[in-house]
Amino acid sequence: MSTPDHPPAEYRSARLHIAGEWRDAADKATATVTNPATGEPVGTVPLATPADLDDALNAAAQGFRTWRTTPLARRTEILHRAADLITARARAIARTMTLEQGKPLDEALGEATRTADTLRWHIEDARRAYGRTIPTAPGTSLSVRRDPIGPVAAFVPWNFPVGGPNRKISSALAAGCSMILKASEETPATAAALVECYADAGLPPGVLNLVFGEPADVSAQLIASPLTRLVAFTGSVPVGKLLAARAGEVMKPSLMELGGHAPVIVCADADPVRAARRAARAKFFNAGQVCTSPSRFLVHESRYEAFTAEFVKAAEALTTGDGLDPATTMGPLANARRVAAAERLTADAISRGATLRTGGTRPDRPGHFFAPTVLTDVAPDAQIMSEEPFAPIAPIVPFGDLDDALAVANSLPFGLAAYGFTESAATAERLCAELEAGILSINHCGGSVHEAPSGGVKDSGYGREGGPEALDAYLVTKRVSHLLAG
Ligand code: NAD
Repeated sequence: MSTPDHPPAEYRSARLHIAGEWRDAADKATATVTNPATGEPVGTVPLATPADLDDALNAAAQGFRTWRTTPLARRTEILHRAADLITARARAIARTMTLEQGKPLDEALGEATRTADTLRWHIEDARRAYGRTIPTAPGTSLSVRRDPIGPVAAFVPWNFPVGGPNRKISSALAAGCSMILKASEETPATAAALVECYADAGLPPGVLNLVFGEPADVSAQLIASPLTRLVAFTGSVPVGKLLAARAGEVMKPSLMELGGHAPVIVCADADPVRAARRAARAKFFNAGQVCTSPSRFLVHESRYEAFTAEFVKAAEALTTGDGLDPATTMGPLANARRVAAAERLTADAISRGATLRTGGTRPDRPGHFFAPTVLTDVAPDAQIMSEEPFAPIAPIVPFGDLDDALAVANSLPFGLAAYGFTESAATAERLCAELEAGILSINHCGGSVHEAPSGGVKDSGYGREGGPEALDAYLVTKRVSHLLAG
């Protein structure tokens, strides 16, 4: 299905991109890619062999030697051309994304468009990756320089099939690094369409390599290789811990963007209707499959019913369907695993006394759909209160005392995003100071922006993406003392 605004583009199955060449796996192995809105196959993804990965490692090493010595003006020109190609191809990329991941076409188009802007921001920021000169003894120059760290092994999931990979690619390449990207096997053609923009912009061979495969085998080989110098991962906490441990074994730094379980505290002085509308919009965005998705709603008892009623209204106003249908405002979940998790978490909460206010079921249609769901009076020991749902489910619980709400909010090992609603500057300051999270929004549920850093505390990981801090992981700080005289 298409509209005049969104002309159809043919789905092209992904290939590996190694040393500037598009190719199949050495043994021609592939896996099937499925459209989550229909459950039907849409294409295939090649699964790299160890020999393919060796080729990618050698290509990235050569690519780094080329890229780091390419004049900055030339690097900048190539990367700006890549950004222009992403803009020009955004509609085709968006359609591929919807076919693979399910999100509504307009959301996919927004993601593709923002991706080009993010790249432009990082290109310009990297021009100012200044070192410094330090006053010291006469005849000696003491300086600090920041050099690209080297080839990066990057691993990204399926929830933002173009924005996710691009956050890593844009910072790494702007900093002068090369990369082997293992994108998700569930959204491979979207990642390939992104990499193609970089390749077609004139990136030298080996600077950006794209692989797919058995995730555990690919990560083991790429992380263990002495040719990679940084591990950059976005995904779940357990996998992040595994990869960080692997990186630690070979003393390799890592950037870990992991899951969360974001609390939303709605205080007694907040407008419950406005808070519910904003929180619901964020909750159901991307069908709840966002690491910063608001996922535990702690509402002051005096605002509880008004907030819940408006939240239910917002959930019921959504139109769930195929993301290619212009009427759709929430697509399917990306895969059957998420639907199974949504069903399990909902059933568990109800079995422990929660009230199902809306949703809670799979619509009777093919594909991986789950209805927007609101649960109230959820018991503290319900699984959904400690396990990130990554699904369109909102558990809402009342509180009487802000101290108690803060204790619940901070009780989990995660600390990615947190949200507060209050009209009091003093209460807002208290929330900002005491909520244990790397990303905070007051009176709205702000999304990621490229000009400011995102990242977690506690089990949600370390390092930051976005903002000037994004370059930190991709640059090494080197002290240089130069004796000029004698
Ligand atoms: P998962 O843990 O199986 O996989 C998460 C991602 O890690 C996938 O892209 C997968 O290919 C990759 N992965 C898995 N094992 C790996 C390994 N050994 N080496 C390298 N990569 C590996 O989970 P899933 O079923 O795909 O998603 C479910 C959970 O993942 C969600 O509940 C959520 O917590 C988390 N998740 C987080 C993000 C995020 O943006 N932080 C994105 C997607 C998923």
